[in-house]
Amino acid sequence: MRLVFQPRIDLSTGRCVGAEALLRWDHPALGSVSPGEFVPVIEHSPHAQAMTAFVLDRALAQAHRWQEDGHGLVMSVNVSAANLHEAAFSSSVEATLRRHGLAPERLELEVTESAIMQDAEQARRQLDALAAADIRLAIDDFGTGYSSLAYLQNIPAHVVKIDQSFVRNLGNGEREQSLVRSMISLSHDLGYRVVAEGVETAAVADQLTAMACDEAQGYHFARPLEIGSFTTWLREHKQGSQHGA
Ligand code: C2E
Ligand code: MG
Ligand code: MG
Repeated sequence: MRLVFQPRIDLSTGRCVGAEALLRWDHPALGSVSPGEFVPVIEHSPHAQAMTAFVLDRALAQAHRWQEDGHGLVMSVNVSAANLHEAAFSSSVEATLRRHGLAPERLELEVTESAIMQDAEQARRQLDALAAADIRLAIDDFGTGYSSLAYLQNIPAHVVKIDQSFVRNLGNGEREQSLVRSMISLSHDLGYRVVAEGVETAAVADQLTAMACDEAQGYHFARPLEIGSFTTWLREHKQGSQHGA
């Protein structure tokens, strides 16, 4: 298994401010297997905790290398419901940060609404401990779970990532646009920074910018990239945005 990295763009400056680490599995017979298929299987096995530990270790090692090269990025890592039930999860994340010499603000953990709601009490304790350690938290796939807004309001998260199913339909019509506009303003009212996932066209990026969405991620900017391609992309993108605006 290996990681690829997808850039995250600040819509007001056009700069790359972060990267999301995404797992890839190249099976000798099946070819490249999508994490949508194998991650849920691992999550329901005893290996869920080891999977996250592996991703965290590799992703933070890479974040440190990019930082040494002058690219200070926030690294986003997806975590599973099982991690929120690990009593020592937050202290093991802190230990991994220390091992790689990274400040906690350099890491953002992405948790889905459904992972939080599986055992809300226990998840809440873990999230509080992570937030107390200055680790940033993002609610992933926002809008697809059945979480209660009253509950989300009390989650110590910093970021809401609007699910791509809403973003992809943005061009379609007034109703779709109102929905996303409301999600952004609601999230802002609750004090969250808002990231749109699955931005595939310049038109959608422009619409989101007009709606005051803070950041975006998607094929329009870059697909998930191998380490070498990401480094090249970063250099070119930095030059591009300097020559641009
Ligand atoms: P996610 O965390 O919501 O990740 C975003 C997914 O959207 C990624 O799919 C990414 O490749 C894809 N994507 C990004 N931009 C676009 C776009 O413009 N259009 C479209 N159609 N798709 C876009 P990917 O890499 O296949 O991962 C799928 C899911 O698998 C992730 O959704 C996440 O839930 C899970 N996953 C991936 N890596 C990990 C991991 O290391 N740990 C855990 N626990 N889950 C992971
Ligand atoms: Mg994610
Ligand atoms: Mg997502």
